[in-house]
Parts: sequence; C-alpha cells; structure tokens
Amino acid sequence: MSDEPRKINCDEAVRKLFEYLDKELGASDHAAVEAHLHSCRSCFSRMEFDKRLRGMIKGADPASAPDPLRERIKKITERF
Ligand SMILES: [Zn+2]
Repeated sequence: MSDEPRKINCDEAVRKLFEYLDKELGASDHAAVEAHLHSCRSCFSRMEFDKRLRGMIKGADPASAPDPLRERIKKITERF
C-alpha cells in the first residue's frame, strides 16, 4: 500500500497514451503513465509526437475533426 504510481512498461504506456492525452484514464492509470513518461525518454517523445499530431488534426479544421475518427483511433488502440 502506497501512493507511488504503479510501474508500467513501454507497451502499456503506449497503449494508454491516447486516453492519457484525452484525460480519460482513471487517476491511478494517469499517474502511472505520467510517471513512466517522466522516466522514459522514448515514450515521452512519442507522447509529444502524438500530441502534436492530434493538435494538427484538430487545429486544421475543427468542424471536420470528426468524432468518428477519434472513435476509430480508440478502437485501433484498444485492439492492441
Ligand atoms: Zn517507455
């Protein structure tokens, strides 16, 4: 029993990355991903990349940044 974030590996961090960026994770998962990102440079760069990519998709044309696309991305990431 402790408040330390759970230790997760790169696979899990990457799998939860989208939900992390969407702030859809529960508090403990969110903390676990965040802790991993702070200690893992490769996942951190990947997160930065995904964040920028998503910002570009959303920023390009908000009206056509469709939820179906988001849902599809989620489905793809959930399947892994
Ligand atoms: Zn990692």
